[in-house]
Amino acid sequence: MAAADTFEIGGRAYNIIDHTYDVVVVGAGGSGLRATMGAAEAGLKTANISKVFPTRSHTVAAQGGIAASLGNNTPDHWSWHMYDTVKGSDWLGDQDAIEYMVREAPHAVYELEHAGVPFSRNDDGTIYQRPFGGHMQNMGEGPPVQRTCAAADRTGHAMLHALYQQSLKYDADFFIEYFAIDLIMKDGKCVGVIAMCLDDGTIHRFRAQGVVLATGGYGRCYYTATSAHTCTGDGGGMVLRQGLPLQDMEFVQFHPTGIYGAGVLITEGARGEGGYLTNSEGERFMERYAPSAKDLASRDVVSRSMALEMREGRGVGADGDHIYLHLDHIDPKVLAERLPGITESGKIFAGVDLTRQPLPVTPTVHYNMGGIPCNYHGEVIAGDPNDPEKIVPGLFAVGEAACVSVHGANRLGSNSLIDLVVFGRATGFRLKETIKSGANQDELPTDSAEMALTRLDHFRHADGSSPTARVREEMQKAMQAHCAVFRDSALLSEGVEKLKQVNKRMEDIHVSDRSLIWNSDLVETLELDNLMAQANVTIASAENRKESRGAHAHEDFPERDDAKWMKHTIATFDGWGGKGGKVDIGYRPVHEFTLTDDIKYIEPKKRVY
Ligand SMILES: Cc1cc2nc3c(=O)[nH]c(=O)nc-3n(C[C@H](O)[C@H](O)[C@H](O)COP(=O)(O)OP(=O)(O)OC[C@H]3O[C@@H](n4cnc5c(N)ncnc54)[C@H](O)[C@@H]3O)c2cc1C
Repeated sequence: MAAADTFEIGGRAYNIIDHTYDVVVVGAGGSGLRATMGAAEAGLKTANISKVFPTRSHTVAAQGGIAASLGNNTPDHWSWHMYDTVKGSDWLGDQDAIEYMVREAPHAVYELEHAGVPFSRNDDGTIYQRPFGGHMQNMGEGPPVQRTCAAADRTGHAMLHALYQQSLKYDADFFIEYFAIDLIMKDGKCVGVIAMCLDDGTIHRFRAQGVVLATGGYGRCYYTATSAHTCTGDGGGMVLRQGLPLQDMEFVQFHPTGIYGAGVLITEGARGEGGYLTNSEGERFMERYAPSAKDLASRDVVSRSMALEMREGRGVGADGDHIYLHLDHIDPKVLAERLPGITESGKIFAGVDLTRQPLPVTPTVHYNMGGIPCNYHGEVIAGDPNDPEKIVPGLFAVGEAACVSVHGANRLGSNSLIDLVVFGRATGFRLKETIKSGANQDELPTDSAEMALTRLDHFRHADGSSPTARVREEMQKAMQAHCAVFRDSALLSEGVEKLKQVNKRMEDIHVSDRSLIWNSDLVETLELDNLMAQANVTIASAENRKESRGAHAHEDFPERDDAKWMKHTIATFDGWGGKGGKVDIGYRPVHEFTLTDDIKYIEPKKRVY
């Protein structure tokens, strides 16, 4: 580096604008906004950096609702919610963190209510709650519980707007349409982040005592996903580039009901309100696979059942490659009141009038259970084999980017929105406890901008022969073909090789726009770099896990194997810029203990619905 405020590479100078904060949060989805509010409320000088306008974050697309054991529509208890979450996770979730989440959940929902979320109501004025997959009464015994609080089928939209409005009340600075490129580390501690203003290409160096990654999931590793095009796992990429691990990346959730062809989501709330699936023979096949919970079994179970029906020749349509979702028996008034958004999506994306016709659906990539390992305070775990709980000072993660792990091998519907606000708030508490406002901060290392700006400049001037969009499509198709609902050893090991080859193409990447003014070609390439690393880590972790658990259905190892595999995978990556591509795999123990003595550890059982 030439001087503190300029970085020169290949004769090109990048001017750096410096900022100092107590806390910097990257991401303004539900989790990032909640953490920002918490930090600002605690009197910490807080900045929020977001590559999209906050209310355009993917949280806005959440439909069905947010789980909390309020017991408004049926009896409920936090211990039942805990049981269902542990069972849903196929015993890979950490039970201390799960207990924390389900006990804080009612409080978090009331807090949202008071913040202005317009929840749907029961006649007596209480918050309306609907049934959702895998949520049951009486410690899993059933019948289904109504636990999912909803604002019609636009819950995420309502939540995100309320949270953004609230956060403006606090004194946080928003850096909107700024793209965070890389973390700044010093002696194993996170001391800041480098970002680019998309609008004018200026480079901003944020120095902070605490950096919170709230960057969302990486669903766009796959060809068809319900997640937004912005869900590119940038936080996970930044963590991997520091040689830190990601956890449980093999567990990718397929939502049973993406609209066939378009991939747009139809909420599980549709089945919660009475919708059901049929095959080409008109049979309600879920009765065979899950006699008790039927269409409301957990997502991995329903997606696998649908895939089996299609594989055995009972899919619908000319190619037998989808399934029907019926809502045509439900009173149109109920549809208009409780599911207006998906009624519209059905019309726009499938040309179907839901009140009269079934909707063509297929399992679609939806959620990443894996992510940046952290504890229930949001503190990022370093991945030290000798000290599995050791943290990375100064670094936090929340939301879908994080792996706490409350969802284990399979997340239950409506448990993500609650995860966002519960752990966003918990992270705020931890920041308050551990950071003193205005405390002196270390000088940044002299090479603080080097990693970020060398990468930026490299991609900006990349003149190979492979356009970003083409390499991205190859990666997405390889993931879709080799790492989907069903996996086997041959498919996975071929997939690992294929992804290594696709990764090599990063050496030959071509970016045509050299400017720094709203250069979407460049930003998409930085995003692809993040996706590519996580695609490689995901498939290598999947190939490595020789059992079936939750969303990871391995046909050569169809049973769960607790003796060998009840452990978290942690994996690092060294294949940047197309070179190498090695994924190193290690493990962390699952927390086989609860947070308090109020509930005993829930012993593993076979998972049937
Ligand atoms: C269609 C759909 C419906 C869903 N419905 C439900 C539901 O009903 N119930 C439920 O519980 N869950 C649902 N989920 C899951 C849930 O909505 C998500 O897991 C959750 O909203 C993720 O929130 P987040 O705060 O982690 O990140 P996001 O909301 O994805 O936000 C990520 C933020 O990070 C920022 N960011 C990312 N990278 C960078 C970068 N490099 N620089 C700067 N900023 C960056 C973005 O600008 C954005 O603000 C649904 C998901 C989808 C896709």
